[in-house]
Amino acid sequence: MSEDCIFCQIVAGDIPSRTVYEDDDVLAFLDANPLAPGHTLVIPKAHHETLGDLPTDAGASVFETLHRLTPVIETAVDADASNVAFNNGEAAGQEVPHVHGHVIPRFDGDGGGPIHAIAGARPDLSDDELDDIAARIADDA
Ligand code: AMP
Ligand code: ZN
Repeated sequence: MSEDCIFCQIVAGDIPSRTVYEDDDVLAFLDANPLAPGHTLVIPKAHHETLGDLPTDAGASVFETLHRLTPVIETAVDADASNVAFNNGEAAGQEVPHVHGHVIPRFDGDGGGPIHAIAGARPDLSDDELDDIAARIADDA
């Protein structure tokens, strides 16, 4: 537990939450400032800041919960679809430094955008640059 982490305090029961699922490793609760009805956060109970910090087992537990809960959440609020995403690091908009996956239910005509709308200006990359980036990722994958 990280003493000044708001999500660790939720895990500890020191801050209330609308919990929708809990097991030994994972907690899921409604977002306090929802972007849509049913907006849910899925977190590992252990404090880790980003996906890169998360041990494999904890990552698997978080994904398993996202995978199972997403259709349950959609049904509960009669959504047509959902965005499932992580703000992974401060530059990407992560405000709470404890890994959390967002499940944001979506509705036909809700006026929202796709996940492509969140990044800045699109880069103009040459084939050589794309090849180089792919190679650098593949080397460590
Ligand atoms: P992020 O920008 O990805 O770090 O998102 C943090 C999310 O946590 C925001 O959507 C907040 O509305 C949500 N949040 C912050 N405090 C609480 C809380 N006490 N209970 C539930 N959700 C919270
Ligand atoms: Zn924490």
